[in-house]
Amino acid sequence: MSTTKRFPPLPKTISAPGGTVTVRRVKAIKLASGHEAWGTWEPHTRTVEIDLTAPMAHQWRTLYHELAHVALDDAGLHNGMNEELVEAVCDALATARFRERFG
Ligand SMILES: [Zn+2]
Repeated sequence: MSTTKRFPPLPKTISAPGGTVTVRRVKAIKLASGHEAWGTWEPHTRTVEIDLTAPMAHQWRTLYHELAHVALDDAGLHNGMNEELVEAVCDALATARFRERFG
């Protein structure tokens, strides 16, 4: 199976409990802190950005990570967790969803 077939293009929008999420593929994401990131989730505009220069497998994994942030935010659960735990939970969910879909 070709890489292209194995990892299809990312969806442009995703339905989530708090409303539709827009997915944008962008180059060189810079956080407010000045650090670089593979992906971001912006709750106010309900937009996920994914670095398009990453390999497709990594883009999908990052998408699932950011969508885990969306799910936690939409459920209000992020308020009861510290940042480290939030990131660990998002990584765990991203890995599970990635393996479920792509093996
Ligand atoms: Zn994160």
